[in-house]
Amino acid sequence: MGLTIALAVTIIIALLLRRRKRKRTPIPTAVKRAVYKRDHGRCRHCGSKQWLEYDHIKPFSLGGKNTVDNLQLLCRRCNEKKGNRYIG
Ligand SMILES: [Zn+2]
Repeated sequence: MGLTIALAVTIIIALLLRRRKRKRTPIPTAVKRAVYKRDHGRCRHCGSKQWLEYDHIKPFSLGGKNTVDNLQLLCRRCNEKKGNRYIG
């Protein structure tokens, strides 16, 4: 009985920690729409219309906000390239 509770608590804590780590404030729909319209539904770097993602110009981890000014449309490839630049 006691062991079962301890196990359950461990699992709950693990889930909570994982959720916190993954936590990302969702971009408001109105902001997404405005960014999409401004960037004409295309990747800002290569003009691709496929695999588009909303990219934070100033990374969220560095205090970048979910605002139209701080977001841009990037295709997954350009987004990954950009991500690589930040490593190191
Ligand atoms: Zn691109």
